[in-house]
Amino acid sequence: MRACPKCGGAMEAAKSITIGGLENKEIAWHCRRDQVTAELRHPVQYVHIHVGEVEEVDGHRRRLVHKEIRGAELVVYHEPVTDAPPGTRPREAARPARASTRRPPRGTGRNRRRARRG
Ligand SMILES: [Zn+2]
Repeated sequence: MRACPKCGGAMEAAKSITIGGLENKEIAWHCRRDQVTAELRHPVQYVHIHVGEVEEVDGHRRRLVHKEIRGAELVVYHEPVTDAPPGTRPREAARPARASTRRPPRGTGRNRRRARRG
């Protein structure tokens, strides 16, 4: 059983494989409370994985919240990213400036006849 780094609750196995004689070896977990996920990685990736990194998987962004070496295995924990990370203001994010608003042409078709005097 794996503990969620965020809420401390027990995480459920989300994926298991049978490999090298090991049956139902758990390789991924998730927490029902806050949707934190955990998965196995190769330990050599440890130095290349940084807490706080956001990556996109299948169109969903997630942030690495914790990593730990357990025995010969590296476990990384992610939480889903639904909005901008705390501390950043979404308004400051690059927002395309609105192109000049289109205005309907006006003032046309108003041909004044010059009044003739005399
Ligand atoms: Zn949790």
